[in-house]
Amino acid sequence: MTATFKPARPIWCAGCGDFGVQQALENSMQALGIEPHDALIIAGIGCSGSLQNNVRCYGYHALHGRVLPTATGAKLANANLAVIGVGGDGDGYAIGGGHLMHTLKRNPSLTYIVMNNGTYGLTKGQASPTSPTGYGENIEENLDPMMMGLSIPGSTFLARGYTGQPAQLLELTTAALEHAKKGRGFAYLEVLSPCVTYNDTYRAWRTDVYDLEQDDGYDPANRGAAFVRMLELREQGRLPIGLIYKGERPALETLAANADFPAPALQDIDPAKFTEKYEQALQSFM
Ligand code: SF4
Repeated sequence: MTATFKPARPIWCAGCGDFGVQQALENSMQALGIEPHDALIIAGIGCSGSLQNNVRCYGYHALHGRVLPTATGAKLANANLAVIGVGGDGDGYAIGGGHLMHTLKRNPSLTYIVMNNGTYGLTKGQASPTSPTGYGENIEENLDPMMMGLSIPGSTFLARGYTGQPAQLLELTTAALEHAKKGRGFAYLEVLSPCVTYNDTYRAWRTDVYDLEQDDGYDPANRGAAFVRMLELREQGRLPIGLIYKGERPALETLAANADFPAPALQDIDPAKFTEKYEQALQSFM
């Protein structure tokens, strides 16, 4: 008997930004014609990780911080699959931070959506790597993951959206999925997605965000200038949103492709074709 997966109802608090991320993702998948049987969502641990339960496609809940190596493996096993990693700032930037760096460097064609709320919502509001100084007892400087992405030469797509600006978020989500779908490499989209229960930043972010489209001369193909602009805006206490960087570089799955050894999920595994060799192997032990 075959069981058909039915998407679950979200379990997020009313008003959580993650609703907006899910909506943008579902609408973008539909707009790009990504069918449920061609998509795999791999989720991290945290409130945002439950997103994979709610969308009609394949889903897998990875170990804490291990979304990206799992997603890279899935992409290498089947390059035809639209692989989408989702998670939060705690999962992606603390325990998973090392994997993010190396995935930016490797450039596999998958999409990674980080719902950044500057807190560990699932465990009731501890400081995360993106919590500002003074959040609770946090004495550390917060991380800007987009600037980290810019500093890694292999990165090819960096964007930041905000759930308070859903039209732009939809555009950025679609652009990220398209980048990966066309085999152009790793599409990394961070979404400012407020946690209304433990760190309600809606009011502050409404004025802190800065849409890069306001900058006439901003060129997302110019990595150096983008970094300088991000730094300037950070010093002014602003949070840049929009397409931050887009570059060209061969994708990992293209470089790793080997005609003699098809990707594992695409190999012919018809048992009848291997029975003879199996029998021979058994005979060799007699
Ligand atoms: Fe969203 Fe925060 Fe509630 Fe978690 S605790 S579901 S992040 S609002």
